[in-house]
Amino acid sequence: MRHDHLITSKQLSRGNIENILDHAAEIDDDPSTVADRHAETLLGLLFFEPSTRTKMSFETAMKRLGGDVVDMGPVDSSSVKKGETLADTVRVIEGYADALVVRHPKQGAATMASEFVDVPLLNAGDGAGHHPTQTMLDLYTIRENAGLDDLTIGIMGDLKYGRTVHSLAYALTNFDTRQHFISPESLQLPREVVYDLHQQQEGAGIREHDSLEEILPSLDVLYVTRIQRERFPDENEYQKIAGEYQIDADTLEAASDDLTVMHPLPRVDEIAPEIDETDHAAYFEQAHNGVPVRMALLDLLLSDDKGIWGDGDE
Ligand code: ASP
Repeated sequence: MRHDHLITSKQLSRGNIENILDHAAEIDDDPSTVADRHAETLLGLLFFEPSTRTKMSFETAMKRLGGDVVDMGPVDSSSVKKGETLADTVRVIEGYADALVVRHPKQGAATMASEFVDVPLLNAGDGAGHHPTQTMLDLYTIRENAGLDDLTIGIMGDLKYGRTVHSLAYALTNFDTRQHFISPESLQLPREVVYDLHQQQEGAGIREHDSLEEILPSLDVLYVTRIQRERFPDENEYQKIAGEYQIDADTLEAASDDLTVMHPLPRVDEIAPEIDETDHAAYFEQAHNGVPVRMALLDLLLSDDKGIWGDGDE
């Protein structure tokens, strides 16, 4: 795999992650240091699935770096509708853009697409697989609110199909964390992910639960996720689970005052709106962090002298 494609968070060491987060913090403090650094650069946006935050924050990030975007637009009005393959589409658009951002409903699509292009390709979500740039803004938000070491985090909801969960869990194995996974049995983390987490970090510090109650008081961060309705093969299965694993002000009575509540968004009904105004809520801040973090990623990726992988430490 070329070093300048970002497909999964497994590619990133602790050093790589800290480098990206530090750069994002510099940009957050003073965006003028990088304004216009990438004038003339064009970022290709290829979204084969709905997106609000990821797409708009990539666009904002590229523009704030002085560049611009070329957007394939909705699948229905592109040649995909005529039966064009993903491989052909990315090969065409790499001729228009300096880097590509790809979101696709099929797991593995970003890896496959990256094999056909020479420009850097960023995976913006491949089915139930990975979403590494979301992970970077999640880590940034965790670092700002709770710190990344000596962290006890609960990750709750759809752990089977939730790609943000898979990417985050891998990345957290680089830090001194205890990860508690809370879900119904049918939506547990895929066994291969659990196996991989143990391979990544000896002891991995992971535990699985079917209820939040027993673990809530010990958490520094609670990362809530949406049940990924669009990935359920059977709507009836979704209906059986929908509405479970929600939190409201009463739920949080048992939590520490310092608990940070996160969510990659969009939420459906997992977090009651009454939590939005409390000091626990960090999910809008988390979404806003997408801009400096994606600016940092693009700046590193597009600068010859830097690169995401620093001095070759992958
Ligand atoms: N926006 C996130 C994603 O694309 C989370 C979600 O859709 O629930 O994976």
